[in-house]
Formats: sequence, structure tokens, C-alpha cells
Amino acid sequence: MTVKVITVGEDILGANEEKAKANKSRLDGYGILTINIMSSPGAGKTSLIMSTIKSLKEKARMAVIEGDVASSMDADKINEMGIPVVQINTAGGCHLDANMVESALNGLPLEKADLLFIENVGNLICPNAFLLGEDKRVMISSMPEGDDKPYKYPAMFADSDVVLLNKIDLQPHLDFNVDGFKKTVTGLNPDVILFPVSCKTGEGMEAWLDWLESAVKGKKKR
Ligand code: MG
Ligand code: ZN
Repeated sequence: MTVKVITVGEDILGANEEKAKANKSRLDGYGILTINIMSSPGAGKTSLIMSTIKSLKEKARMAVIEGDVASSMDADKINEMGIPVVQINTAGGCHLDANMVESALNGLPLEKADLLFIENVGNLICPNAFLLGEDKRVMISSMPEGDDKPYKYPAMFADSDVVLLNKIDLQPHLDFNVDGFKKTVTGLNPDVILFPVSCKTGEGMEAWLDWLESAVKGKKKR
């Protein structure tokens, strides 16, 4: 007799993928460019969203979904900027899934948005395994985390469309090999777009904003 193998993970991911497709077509219907932002805790996801909002406020109508294990601190900050935001608390869960995003979409004025940021739970292990309905995946890796992160968490880098190397203002204080980092990331993901940035000083942000703005325009036209 052969042993029955039930692969729970695959079933869960399969159901998630269906739900993610539904989210995607719902967002497509509104012409909203949706960005799934992933990183470890403290790499600068919220800072990137806030500084992007400041720069693009006149050019695009934005909305945000904040994913955190607990608290609404990040959502409160976005809310203070006058941007529609929904907080998802995963109560210990280490990633967002398409079901959670569907509930959050119900709380956002989608008819008044061009660009949606989904800030995933800070974690480099599994968020990449769960599609949410996004157009693009943007990963933030920050210099203080070290240049070895692509070796240690290759799937996160391989599954992202854009990698932002954040906190480059700290480079003088760190032994961070920028060329080595770029080489490793490109080796894992030859199509990746890499932007070295500092959300704090604004260095490098223009290239990211240009890319984002043209992606928003491209989505609207379709
Ligand atoms: Mg955050
Ligand atoms: Zn997880």
C-alpha cells in the first residue's frame, strides 16, 4: 500500500492564489497599480511609503494597506497624511495573504485611487510565497542588515520586481559591499530593478519615483 501524502501547504497556497487573482482583477477594474512591499522589520517600508506619498501626492491618488502583527502605529501615521489606509493585524501571523487583503480592500475608496501600497509584515522568510493581487513586488533591503541578505534569503530577492537598497546614508559607518550586493541580487534575479536610496536624505529617491510614476501611468492606459 502506498502512503497517502497530504500536502497542506500546497492546498493553502492554491486557495490563496485563486483569491489573489480575484483581488487582482478587482484592482485592475479600477486601473489601480498595486505594490506589495516586503522587507525585514525596520528596513524602512513605512518610511518609503510616507516619503513616496509626500513626493507623489499631487500626481497620483494613493491608498495604503498596512500589515503588522499588532498595533496601528504605521496606519496612524499614514492617516495623518490624509491618505486612505486600512490596518491589518495578523495576530501573530508572519505574512499577509489574499483573504486579508480582500477584507482590507472593502474598506478603501478604490474608485478614488491610482496607486495602492500593501505593506507586508516585516519578515524575510515567507511573504513572497503568498500572492495578494499585486502588480509589482518591491523588496527593501537596508544597509545595516548587511550585504549577505541575498545569500540568506534568496527567494525574497528572486521573487521581487524591484529591490530598494535603503539607508545608503549610513554607508560610511558600515562595511557594506555595494557591488557584491548588486552582483548577488542580479545573479538571483536577472530582471530585477535595483535602486539604492535613502528615505531619510532623499538620495536616489528620484529614480524610484520616476519608475513608480511611469508604472502608474502604464497601468491606467491599459
Ligand atoms: Mg511599518
Ligand atoms: Zn508567513
